[in-house]
Amino acid sequence: MQTEVIILRCPECETEVGHTVYHNGFRAAATSIGPSIIECPQCAFQVETGQKEWAQFGLVRKSWYVISRLFWLFVASIFVCGGFAALFNRLALDQGWIVKEQSNLLMLKTYIIATLVLSCLFIRRSWKEIHDSLQRYHAVDPK
Ligand SMILES: [Zn+2]
Repeated sequence: MQTEVIILRCPECETEVGHTVYHNGFRAAATSIGPSIIECPQCAFQVETGQKEWAQFGLVRKSWYVISRLFWLFVASIFVCGGFAALFNRLALDQGWIVKEQSNLLMLKTYIIATLVLSCLFIRRSWKEIHDSLQRYHAVDPK
């Protein structure tokens, strides 16, 4: 996968105010949360970012956000947790903690526990992202 970072500049004075990440040409901002307008630190110009705060997301965008996060969790669970389970299983066999017949069960248990831990981290991170966004949104524009 190709990732490209586009620097967002103030149209008035060219000062760098932020950046947008593209994955294979798809704008990650479609699911990323952030202020829709950033004030230029140099000239105070209101720069549009193309992002939105969670409270401004419609139902489709909210669903898409959840789906994309679940997708990444799924991908990460296969590679990270699967890899970890395989390594741990190898170690347990080498160290003689288990015999070969117990190998599949240990692999499954390790994978499930690792996936649960990873899920908690993912949920916490997304929750914090939404929480921070709501705080920003209500601090700027109390409704
Ligand atoms: Zn500026």
